[in-house]
Amino acid sequence: MTELRGVGIGLGVAQGPVARMSEPLPPPSDAPSTLSADEEKARVADAVAGVARELETRGAQAGGAAQDVLEAQAMMAEDPSLADEVNARIGQGKTGEFAVFDAFASFRDQLTALGGYLGERAADLDDVAQRVIARLRGVPAPGVPDPGHPFVLVAKDLAPADTALLDLEKVLALVTTDGGPTSHTAILAREKSIVAVVGAVAATGLKDGETVIVDAAAGVVTTEPTSDELDRARNRAADRAAAATAPITDGALADGTPIPLLANLGSPDGAADAVALGAEGVGLFRTEFLFLSSSQAPTVEQQRESYTKLLAAFPGKKVVVRVLDAGADKPLAFLNDAHEENPALGLRGIRALRASEDILREQLTALAEADAATDADLWVMAPMVATVEEARYFTDLARDYGIKTAGVMVEVPSSALLADRILGFSDFASIGTNDLTQYTMAADRLLGSVAAFQDPWHPAVLRLIREVGDAGRINRKPVGICGEAAADPLLAVVLVGLGATSLSMAPTAIADVRATLLQHSLDDAREIAQAALAANDAASARTAAQAAATSHKETQQ
Ligand code: PEP
Ligand code: MG
Repeated sequence: MTELRGVGIGLGVAQGPVARMSEPLPPPSDAPSTLSADEEKARVADAVAGVARELETRGAQAGGAAQDVLEAQAMMAEDPSLADEVNARIGQGKTGEFAVFDAFASFRDQLTALGGYLGERAADLDDVAQRVIARLRGVPAPGVPDPGHPFVLVAKDLAPADTALLDLEKVLALVTTDGGPTSHTAILAREKSIVAVVGAVAATGLKDGETVIVDAAAGVVTTEPTSDELDRARNRAADRAAAATAPITDGALADGTPIPLLANLGSPDGAADAVALGAEGVGLFRTEFLFLSSSQAPTVEQQRESYTKLLAAFPGKKVVVRVLDAGADKPLAFLNDAHEENPALGLRGIRALRASEDILREQLTALAEADAATDADLWVMAPMVATVEEARYFTDLARDYGIKTAGVMVEVPSSALLADRILGFSDFASIGTNDLTQYTMAADRLLGSVAAFQDPWHPAVLRLIREVGDAGRINRKPVGICGEAAADPLLAVVLVGLGATSLSMAPTAIADVRATLLQHSLDDAREIAQAALAANDAASARTAAQAAATSHKETQQ
């Protein structure tokens, strides 16, 4: 048995056989073929037919919209004019691999130039070409594997689109070698309740088919587990499933202090599940997630429709919408300059919106219209605010559009340190602990090699949060937390002890956080927070908070 360490997302545990995500194939070389043209043509015809049949079979298994997409891909693969193009290249002495690569690429360019629906199919053609080339090489096709049974997916990292499309019936757990706890892979894994360990650098050594236990609570992947270990993991998974069915109550501490538990959402489609899991509203709606694949800025109408759908799902409840936060890890084609050397420190968040103020104004228009059409209590906030002036700029602009409650995210140390001034006029602050940790610790949240620094338990981060909590108390303004830290039950207690008045998280984390808050009073939470603040590093802060929390629970019993 060996343990591979990473950073766990959530508290789940799962077990199963590994299936590795294969890397994109390197492009084939243009060296002349050593086979005859007829042999090359026959190889390609076999590979194309094989890919087409595989896509059809997968389509039949998936059914619904996926079946239509996969059948369309199978037809593309067998398009006779594409075969003519491939064969013409083979006739000029090219290898089958190169001929497929080159002919598909030229078809893709033609489709892209046509634009519209056909243009959008261009990426599908790339996928088909990769599958044919993989067959010709006798290697697995790149992308999420389909071994035909449930599996533990092991990957370097996943694009948001890959994570969003994962088949949760099949993916038992996710292990990545890259990515920190606040990478968007981690966020989406948490949102979809996928048991995940990220930044497990040693997972590069895991082999297809070997059984592992993925323990997110401990941040450990166990290889060659014993049957006892497998049984224990199975029992723990069953216990958590039972806890998840405990009665839903509003978030509160043991002394009755209300701590609203809100949802982080990236699409209005997640609203019904969030409500079912006990979300008392929305603490962070990431609007940029709606437009990640748009090449042009969304229209006011498109936006109004999405926001109205969201707000209508929460009548009478607070819904905090963040204006577009495009940046390093989630660029928007219509807002970001792709050529920044260091995009995490570049024109992102409110800076990018200010540089394209029309887009910000249109978004505020759409939000105000959606607000007028629904009964939710809309709050709107700006991301990545770094100066008092930016906070004032956004708050004033939002009010000009009739937004009643306008606030800022505190994600940059400068705005945490000046929160007392910012909260002099902004209506609320919401602390984004993911970026606040990244910028405080100078550790890229996407980089597995520095994941150990990306720990919101670090006392330097906790001190900054305390500044914001104090500023909220002095100015009598709410201070929410919407970074991933709020989803860690013990850290949630610490955050409340530091002055947070509400917590927002992936809805799947709410049950665990609710249960832990109920074990501590506000005085306890403050003492537990003091214990964490007094530590020198993240690990000792966690241990000190754990010890303080346990001693409170013992005195209560
Ligand atoms: C954060 O930085 O903590 C946050 C909530 O914003 P995002 O994760 O979307 O950058
Ligand atoms: Mg952020």
